[in-house]
Amino acid sequence: MRQHLEAQFPQCCTNCKRPFATLREYLLITEQVGSAMPYDVELGDWQPLEPLGTVTFANCPCGSTLVLSSDGMPLLQLWSLLNWARTETKKWGMTPKDLLNYLRDEITRQVLAAPASKP
Ligand SMILES: [Zn+2]
Repeated sequence: MRQHLEAQFPQCCTNCKRPFATLREYLLITEQVGSAMPYDVELGDWQPLEPLGTVTFANCPCGSTLVLSSDGMPLLQLWSLLNWARTETKKWGMTPKDLLNYLRDEITRQVLAAPASKP
């Protein structure tokens, strides 16, 4: 999941064109907004053929809202993630949203704890 997110960089803000070279930079500069949304799972679909996706939102300093999503993730990989999530939520009595927010925090923590890879 972290690899999938990191593969979405570099990207830039669609509004102010501010570039984000890496996931780390993105996490440092933007501010997360609200809860992550596992759309398919919220609808009870754990093996979506046409996934709506899972997204998290963050605010660019310019005020524009940026989106990171599971779009483009291969179906099999997505299904195995969802399958894992289903097991975990049952095991811990968490909602899918809780689990996703936990994952998001954990990825943020790991990425920010890693040494910066400056060129
Ligand atoms: Zn911006």
